[in-house]
Amino acid sequence: MPLYEYHCKPCNGIFEIIRPMREASVAVPCPECSRDAPRIMSSFNAFTFRDGYPRRLPDKGTFWHMGKEVKKRAKRMSWYDHPELTPPKRKPRPAKGEITAARERQAARAKALSYGDRWGVDARGFRQPKAARKRKPARKTIT
Ligand SMILES: [Zn+2]
Repeated sequence: MPLYEYHCKPCNGIFEIIRPMREASVAVPCPECSRDAPRIMSSFNAFTFRDGYPRRLPDKGTFWHMGKEVKKRAKRMSWYDHPELTPPKRKPRPAKGEITAARERQAARAKALSYGDRWGVDARGFRQPKAARKRKPARKTIT
């Protein structure tokens, strides 16, 4: 039977007991004050290396990157930036030429749309059935 460590909070003491493995996580009465003492994970700061990466020993399936816990192993890192630890990069501001080009494209689109609307054609230039065209609201007669 293996040896396990338990910590009693009121006494602030640690004691070891040899117990069967299946009872290891069950709290044990403290030898001094006989209150329940929970088990200490003695492998608290233990690391192991798996796939060349350090991992915590009670293996939670997580990895460690530059002293921080991450869920996935870093692939294709640039420099030492882990994708989970670095905030996503902001998009570069568009250049002045790009802004004007986009504005012109939008203006052209709006113009084409209004043209199509006027002549009853859709975006590809096909004639729309009369029902699909916008109708003028009926004139109101003021009495
Ligand atoms: Zn105690």
